[in-house]
Amino acid sequence: MKQFTYERATSPAGASRAAVMQRRTRFIAGGTNLLDLMKLEIETPEHLVDINRLGLDVIEETAEGGLRIGALVRNSDLAADLRVRERYPVLARALLAGASGQLRNKATTGGNLLQRTRCYYFYDTAMPCNKRNPGSGCAAIGGFNRIHAILGTSESCIATHPSDMAVAMRVLDATVHTLMPNGEEHAIPIADFYRLPGDTPQVETALRPGELITHVTLPSPPAGRQLYRKVRDRASYAFALVSVAAIVACDGDTVTSARIAFGGVAAMPWRDEAFDASLQGAGTDEASLRAIADHALAGARGFGHNDFKVPLARRTLGAVLVEACGRDGA
Ligand code: SF4
Repeated sequence: MKQFTYERATSPAGASRAAVMQRRTRFIAGGTNLLDLMKLEIETPEHLVDINRLGLDVIEETAEGGLRIGALVRNSDLAADLRVRERYPVLARALLAGASGQLRNKATTGGNLLQRTRCYYFYDTAMPCNKRNPGSGCAAIGGFNRIHAILGTSESCIATHPSDMAVAMRVLDATVHTLMPNGEEHAIPIADFYRLPGDTPQVETALRPGELITHVTLPSPPAGRQLYRKVRDRASYAFALVSVAAIVACDGDTVTSARIAFGGVAAMPWRDEAFDASLQGAGTDEASLRAIADHALAGARGFGHNDFKVPLARRTLGAVLVEACGRDGA
């Protein structure tokens, strides 16, 4: 690990300002991803700003009937919160599907959003990787790419974003709130928070230097049954091959509204509002739902080893829709 300096911030404004006072500064909270990356010298910050004592660990209801989640709320605390479990079960389920109990006890809401890809080549410093070392190439294209993206890829990078929590937040239309070093506060809809790789896969989010995530807000939950289903190689402690977050309202024989977000398929939680709209009015019998699911993920393509993800994601969605409409989707 490279040497670095460290300070403990005492206020959000002080933390944000400190992050632009020195070169190559990173915020650290739970550190569950950053410390691994520092040990591998993939992340080599010269300065760490510890934000653990900023008081951003509160969950509270908003005047609009939603929820305000501090950036430092631990994943386990968020999953266990009664308001989350009762009103946002898709979020509780997604959180509990992620990582391990020990990691969830440390990992924070803000850090979960910002975790880096689990592409094998990103973690192997002997291999070319445009995300780790811009301009060096992408070892995954033409390499072993079983866990890689099938949507939103570029010639520079085909990595996926690993967060389960972010997929649930995408289907819930969360907003990420930030503080700039100049004191400005920004509200970034989660739909605009992540970047596709394009020519700059090292740029992963809309955040600018020194911009500190302070909290995330969830609007009042929409009507409908909330589900999160994750398909992975092991029953626990594994990243999603594909996952589906869904909020589906059915009225007898008809789907009245639906929101779907996919994980494990792109560099961001993937949502297609046009596809959501196409579900409205669909029949709730299994054949109809599975037929519609076969049209999800328009434009998806694999890179060889991950070709299976396209049918896997559609079949997972089909099972989720059948379950949401009250039938056995197992
Ligand atoms: Fe690097 Fe992205 Fe290619 Fe993986 S897919 S090797 S993260 S450039």
